Amino acid sequence: MESNQRIVIIGAGIVGASLAYHLASHGAHVIVLEAQAIASGVTGTSFAWIHTTHGNADPTAHLHSAAIAEYRRLETELPQLKIHWGGALSYGGEAGNMPPATLVSREQICTLEPKLKHPPEHAWHAAAEGALDAVAATHALLAGAQAHGAQVLTHTPVLDFSRDGSSVTGVKTAKENIAADLVVLAAGTATASLAAMLGATLPITTSPAILICYKAPANLVQGIISSPQMEIRQGADGCLLAAEDYLDDTPDNQPAAVAQRTAAAIQDELHGATGIETELACVGWRPMPADGIPIIGPLPNMCGAYVCAMHPGVILAAVVGRLASEEIITGKAAPALAPCRPDRFSAPK
Ligand SMILES: Cc1cc2nc3c(=O)[nH]c(=O)nc-3n(C[C@H](O)[C@H](O)[C@H](O)COP(=O)(O)OP(=O)(O)OC[C@H]3O[C@@H](n4cnc5c(N)ncnc54)[C@H](O)[C@@H]3O)c2cc1C
Repeated sequence: MESNQRIVIIGAGIVGASLAYHLASHGAHVIVLEAQAIASGVTGTSFAWIHTTHGNADPTAHLHSAAIAEYRRLETELPQLKIHWGGALSYGGEAGNMPPATLVSREQICTLEPKLKHPPEHAWHAAAEGALDAVAATHALLAGAQAHGAQVLTHTPVLDFSRDGSSVTGVKTAKENIAADLVVLAAGTATASLAAMLGATLPITTSPAILICYKAPANLVQGIISSPQMEIRQGADGCLLAAEDYLDDTPDNQPAAVAQRTAAAIQDELHGATGIETELACVGWRPMPADGIPIIGPLPNMCGAYVCAMHPGVILAAVVGRLASEEIITGKAAPALAPCRPDRFSAPK
């Protein structure tokens, strides 16, 4: 599977980076254009838990189920990609569609997470799950793409498209027009407005969530803990990360206030957490397709444009990067991506 297509990818978040890596490794001439810095979009504020949980009726369950194996593959291809496969302990919530997980006893929970003050009687333990530093992973994927000849231009927003009738023939930046056989829209929350410039309506909402980073003692938690009180993990640099729902814009629910409340909850739940200090608390804006299903594939009614917008983008980046790049290179639609096609939003003819 080799190609010499010229492909412009708009967006250097984890989704665009994975596409760049996979396309470049098939020989495509890839240029990544990023409006700001690498991973400066929502990828920079991700909790980045790689899990396989999905809704019962989710038509993309197979993509979620493949996530761990696809990251395991990427780890072998990209030694600079570091993933902490520390497992995940979940309790107190709805069981949902549990991934391959084992019901563990309080005694086992205490071995897995010795700092828990109130270990529940039972919890689900997904030993195969892990988490990564989404910014570092994006850099690793782009470095892998560059090793295959890709170019990455930061601080280069795409302002418009070059067109020939109903075909996209390239992109326009402030400095130059860049010709392309295919333009991939992987611009996170900006994907809908770029698609609109090409006459396509993609219902992608911006969904806020809060990421908090605390300065914390080493080895407070071993893997991921997800409970009604907290969703936490410890980063490679030792910081304690927490993901929280965004409630509203009132002063009580500003990220700093949420970080204080979450710190109190963590201190109630973990031995040794008394000294944790907020280092960062911010809102990240997730690109959320209106029906919750990723939007992946050729843009309707426009040749030469391909869309890749999804949540959860970290989980899906590895598998989607591979499948989408294979169909772009071969021209053969990947059946696994059938539920994700952008034309599902087009008016019936
Ligand atoms: C608190 C929080 C916790 C999360 N936890 C998880 C989790 O545990 N697991 C998971 O899978 N997901 C999680 N997510 C979601 C995940 O972070 C996103 O789904 C993923 O990062 C989306 O990546 P992306 O590459 O599509 O978008 P982005 O990272 O936003 O990348 C898009 C890029 O496009 C660039 N861009 C936009 N317009 C242009 C233009 N005109 N020209 C050039 N460049 C442009 C932007 O600058 C940006 O860098 C979480 C998100 C948050 C906020």
